Amino acid sequence: MCGIIGYVGRKPVVDILLDGLEQLEYRGYDSSGIAVQCADGIKIYKAEGKLCNLREELSPHAYEIAKSTMGIGHIRWATHGKPTVINAHPHTCNCGKLVIVHNGIIENYKELKVELEAKGCVFRSQTDTEIVAHLMAQIYGEVKDLTKAVQLAAKRIEGAYAFGVMHKDEKDKLVVTKRNAPLVIGVGEN
Ligand code: GLU
Repeated sequence: MCGIIGYVGRKPVVDILLDGLEQLEYRGYDSSGIAVQCADGIKIYKAEGKLCNLREELSPHAYEIAKSTMGIGHIRWATHGKPTVINAHPHTCNCGKLVIVHNGIIENYKELKVELEAKGCVFRSQTDTEIVAHLMAQIYGEVKDLTKAVQLAAKRIEGAYAFGVMHKDEKDKLVVTKRNAPLVIGVGEN
């Protein structure tokens, strides 16, 4: 298990996420990724191996994401699925509007996967985490509120987790939740 970070505020987010992930590096990890909220949608970047690979992946896109002030990031210690780019976080639902990072393990992911497949969800990765993205998106479709969707999804999930979640249609909201895993929230001025 490794680490997550999220930021919403007024400062450009990319360096905040990368610097935050760098501080978690000591925990050990196999891949990394970030998602940032932009005017034209959420953009996701991932890389296998060290954070310098993610920085390289990001560098051609630096200009287009420079203005973003909200995002989530992850360094992964694979528990479900190999340490590949596809399995690296952030993960999304079918339509790509809901994006999630996860630290921990979802114990009932197999049951949830069967249920979600029957509802038409298509899984791209081998992770337990992707199930949660689909579950939250399904619930979001009914309640149209990200906080509510995360709260209701959390009731269905067994295991240990800290999540950071964003939705394309709620551009100033970053939702976090945790169970049996640490999560720290800092509130700064402005
Ligand atoms: N269980 C998740 C995965 O394998 C998260 C692992 C982690 O905490 O880094 O992708």
